[in-house]
Amino acid sequence: DLQIIYYVTPTYPRPEQIPELIRLSHTLMHVPKIHWIVADDQVECSPQVLSVLRKSGLPFTHISSPKPYLFRSSNYPRGVSNRRAAIDWIRKNALEGILYFGDDDNTVDLDLFKEIRRTKKLSMFPVGLIGGYGVSAPIVKQGKVIGFFDSWPGSRIFPVDMAGFAVNIKYLSAAATMPYIAGQEEDKFLLSLNMRVEDIEPQADNCSKILVWHTKTVKYKKPTLKININKLVGDEY
Ligand code: UDP
Ligand code: MN
Repeated sequence: DLQIIYYVTPTYPRPEQIPELIRLSHTLMHVPKIHWIVADDQVECSPQVLSVLRKSGLPFTHISSPKPYLFRSSNYPRGVSNRRAAIDWIRKNALEGILYFGDDDNTVDLDLFKEIRRTKKLSMFPVGLIGGYGVSAPIVKQGKVIGFFDSWPGSRIFPVDMAGFAVNIKYLSAAATMPYIAGQEEDKFLLSLNMRVEDIEPQADNCSKILVWHTKTVKYKKPTLKININKLVGDEY
């Protein structure tokens, strides 16, 4: 019997939002036993997002939790209030299964889902196209994690990306939370679950395979309309 995967996608309005979600929906449509939790960071759920969810035919939950107004600088914590709302939803509504945080702009190999589904407590796997090293991954020796390869270790116990781990929801205690601190979201979330490095189950062939990429979409820039009337109507006018 397959364990159910709760795939949590925080999202926010911008021109790329709907195409990103459509593309992600086309990946998830190939995956059995998945429940897609799409969490808007606005006051209300977006009707455009809802229509993508309906069209996918996937089992889904659409929730919304506005981000605090204070965060308007460039390196603000992204997708925290909405991921927190998803964590709450899972605690209230799910009995068993696996939690995975899948951003709306990431790229996922279908083989990743087999790795996620194996999670007894805490799975980890490499993430590609991230940071200065191009990959972030646990370092595994004889089946055990002995360190981390990550271009920005910080002072983190778990220097990993949001896309690099999955947790069994058995361990989603009342204390589970995510801080509004850019760069500390993953580490502090895992610590709030009382996870230890010894708990990590290295997946993806001892973390030797990349099955998820931290892809980024180039932001659409509105063209400034500079119309040369003479060219349009002809110089004789
Ligand atoms: N996100 C959000 N609110 C924001 C900015 C981002 O909910 O104000 C979501 C976004 O849709 C994505 C995730 O949080 O699913 C990570 O954001 P982004 O991809 O912009 O960050 P990066 O991958 O560059 O760190
Ligand atoms: Mn991203």
